[in-house]
Amino acid sequence: DWIEFTSFFNKIIDRFEMTKNQDVHFTRHLLNTPVYIDMDEDKITQVIDNIISNALKYSPEGGEIIFHVEVHDDKLEVQVKDGGVGIPKENLDKIFDRFYRVDKARTRKLGGTGLGLAIAKEMIEAHGGEIWAKSEEGIGTTIYFTLPIDQEIEDDWS
Ligand code: ATP
Ligand code: MG
Repeated sequence: DWIEFTSFFNKIIDRFEMTKNQDVHFTRHLLNTPVYIDMDEDKITQVIDNIISNALKYSPEGGEIIFHVEVHDDKLEVQVKDGGVGIPKENLDKIFDRFYRVDKARTRKLGGTGLGLAIAKEMIEAHGGEIWAKSEEGIGTTIYFTLPIDQEIEDDWS
């Protein structure tokens, strides 16, 4: 289905902002022109839900989560940046594996099965996009993903 991404993304962020019980500030740098993506709304909602839950789970009180969207030619790039515990370099490429959780002792109390990002990767790749992470221990983590923008429908706007 064709979904206008900015209003779709805003609605998800709103839902987390209204229900969060942590003192974490949300900052949005979204697009100010409409962009239409052909996607399965439920599946991409699941992807974004997991990324935001992770960002909240690993953020300290008083932290900030920054949502950023930019357009790169024929794709949309979404970034969710937190100022949380971060992920050690040697574990970074494993976080998209099934059941992988960094430091079981550290994260056990925070719950989770280690499936969220593996499912996210499957779904983003099924949409023709990519997903990756950058992180620094003690500084924070940014999750990036892309989704293809259909050139034809975009051209109709100009
Ligand atoms: P689930 O999503 O199934 O409830 P989970 O959140 O533990 O469980 P993933 O979402 O797949 O699993 O994340 C895998 C692991 O990557 C997490 O357990 C955590 O160790 C690490 N991780 C993911 N996102 C972050 C983040 N924003 N900051 C720090 N560590 C993270
Ligand atoms: Mg998760």
